[in-house]
Amino acid sequence: MLDRFLRYCMINTRSDEASTSCPSTPGQLTLLRLLVNELIAVGLTDVTMDDHGYVMATIPSTTAKLHVPVIGFIAHVDTSPEMQGHEVHPIVHKNYDGRDLVLPDDPSAVLRASADAALAAHIGHDIVTASGHTLLGADDKAGVAEIVAAAEYLMRHPDIPHGAVRVAFTPDEEIGRGANRFDVGRFGALCAYTMDGGNAGELEWESFSADAMTVTFKGFNTHPGYAKGRMVNAIKLAADFISRLPKDRLSPETTDGHEGYVHPYVMDASVDRTAVRILIRDFSTAGLEEKETFVEELARKVVAEHPGAAVEIMISDSYRNMREILEGYPEVVECAREAIRRSGLTPVERPIRGGTDGSRLSFMGLPTPNLFAGEHNFHSRLEWVSAQDMDKAVETIVNLCQVWEERTS
Ligand SMILES: [Zn+2]
Repeated sequence: MLDRFLRYCMINTRSDEASTSCPSTPGQLTLLRLLVNELIAVGLTDVTMDDHGYVMATIPSTTAKLHVPVIGFIAHVDTSPEMQGHEVHPIVHKNYDGRDLVLPDDPSAVLRASADAALAAHIGHDIVTASGHTLLGADDKAGVAEIVAAAEYLMRHPDIPHGAVRVAFTPDEEIGRGANRFDVGRFGALCAYTMDGGNAGELEWESFSADAMTVTFKGFNTHPGYAKGRMVNAIKLAADFISRLPKDRLSPETTDGHEGYVHPYVMDASVDRTAVRILIRDFSTAGLEEKETFVEELARKVVAEHPGAAVEIMISDSYRNMREILEGYPEVVECAREAIRRSGLTPVERPIRGGTDGSRLSFMGLPTPNLFAGEHNFHSRLEWVSAQDMDKAVETIVNLCQVWEERTS
């Protein structure tokens, strides 16, 4: 599995938000085509790639039971556009002894067990890093390699009873498009698991609910030399509005756990019109609405204090907490807990302060929690993964297929 992973890492699959094609970059197709060949070589059936690059395949059922639900495993092939994706040189630090790991291409890139509790907990493991200039791409090539390795293992051990298992590899997760063209009907599973999480044992089935808000302040522009008593500067209205947002709460920099936030992140400013784009995050729809009301009331208050000013507010849905769906399918999460325990790990369940493809897929009719893939330091050149944790993820996939079979009469 480690060899597969290292090969996948060396293919540049960085996604590109500016591209309108799907996949957004040709390197993703290179890896997706390679995966088609590898799945066929391993013996999977129904191996297909659709017009948008989505690869799907089946591990045929080995059980005599007729009603074992079809389950699926999904990983994304693209890497974050935030970091360079070409010339990735993965390094395996065998039997890690706790020393500082200086990445050779940039000696300022150093992994220190003293500053990274997760790394300190992995002494004795084989740690894989990049070489200093690039991402490693364990997010999510670790998940890709784990799914292929688990498929290979199951194909070689037909004595292990399980129902039909579907696998899928998808493009463009990192630019939020991974679920867009996912054909849930064609996938044909009762539920799925994305293999795209962090430390061994993690199981995520709760994500943010997210909306995007645009608050547009409208002023009045005229020649500044003759503007007395007439000009209304929309930039100043927006500045006033932003300065009145709470400083000690409700922001990304002051919240964690189950707290949501209001996050102004882009401003398009002119005297006549200034639009402030704001991300709204919470774990419940009611919490989102509360925050949106707060923002709207604050904007209207600012405008009311400035004669001649106006404001326009737009809200659009981004995604919703997958928990709303997964609560209706408790067995999906329960089977995952059991599979993790059988791998000798303790399930660690924490809310995701973000969204996954699974958040969208869950609302598209495919309940999809997220399982650990062993990834650490996502989207950073200090990204690392432990080969032993990746083996645990493979074991967990195999266990999960068996748990679903055992629980079916
Ligand atoms: Zn990912």
